[in-house]
Amino acid sequence: MVRLVFVTGWMRSGTTLLGELLGACPGALTVGELTHIWRAYHREDPCSCGELVSACPLWGVVAEVVGSRHGIGAGPDAAISYDEFHQLVFGIMTIWRVPGLRRLRPDRPDQFPPDVARLVEVMRTVFEVVGKISGDARIVETSKSPAALLTFGLVPELQITPVHIVRDPRAVALSESRSRRWSGVSDRLIPRGRSAVRSSIYWSVFVPLCHLIGRGHPGYRLLRYERLAARPQPTMTTLAAALGLTPPTFLAPTIVQFTESHLIAGNPSRFGSRIREIKVDERWRTGLTRFERSAIILITAPVRLVLRLLRA
Ligand SMILES: [Zn+2]
Repeated sequence: MVRLVFVTGWMRSGTTLLGELLGACPGALTVGELTHIWRAYHREDPCSCGELVSACPLWGVVAEVVGSRHGIGAGPDAAISYDEFHQLVFGIMTIWRVPGLRRLRPDRPDQFPPDVARLVEVMRTVFEVVGKISGDARIVETSKSPAALLTFGLVPELQITPVHIVRDPRAVALSESRSRRWSGVSDRLIPRGRSAVRSSIYWSVFVPLCHLIGRGHPGYRLLRYERLAARPQPTMTTLAAALGLTPPTFLAPTIVQFTESHLIAGNPSRFGSRIREIKVDERWRTGLTRFERSAIILITAPVRLVLRLLRA
């Protein structure tokens, strides 16, 4: 049985940071967003360890096994190319597939649609190989999306504990609506943005959806990004204990020591320093226009009220 901590939540909510913090717990390995791994192989993207994915000591081995077992690869001998398999995965990872995926049961694989059945089999291999190479580490995954959580929930021999991180929609909207460049990081590795209004509409849909699907798994945790950013050490101590992990090493109350990781996709911060200071980011207080602030408050009011009732 491979044990997986699945970080769910909406974009720019600190999922990559939380994945890195959980991956820094002894006995855990953070792998990033595995729904993007086929595109990473196709484009020869770098892994957070510094190697290209095909040369990475983890993803290079996964590519070999997946190629021989499932015929996915880059060469002319491959039954399906990385790019074609990426398209198949992204045909599943949409909000429109969520109702159909919710009806599927792990013990009834005969009812899986063909694309879902194929992805489930391939992900079974991926998790099996990662589990073996990592010495049965707790795998931390940050694909975020409800469709990914539902699909991974169908993989045999995989025990999932979801952690849902929720960030103030005003901070999310500011982050999504203002493009940011990272020195030394290619633009294609930076997630796309959207307007503040669109961001808050998506936030209002995805936050309840992640909660509804996440709470169907035992051990589900709901975490506020603001609490993590303001008090990282005690928050991680509590969260690690709930997950049965040893907390990561803090050099000071807000300075954490990251370990080597093999993250695919996510926030470009994954290429940053191994010693990182975690800071409260309140640029949204001055960075949004009055119209944007009012629109976000109005659109997200019902979900924020529910979160308050849940004491999240
Ligand atoms: Zn790597």
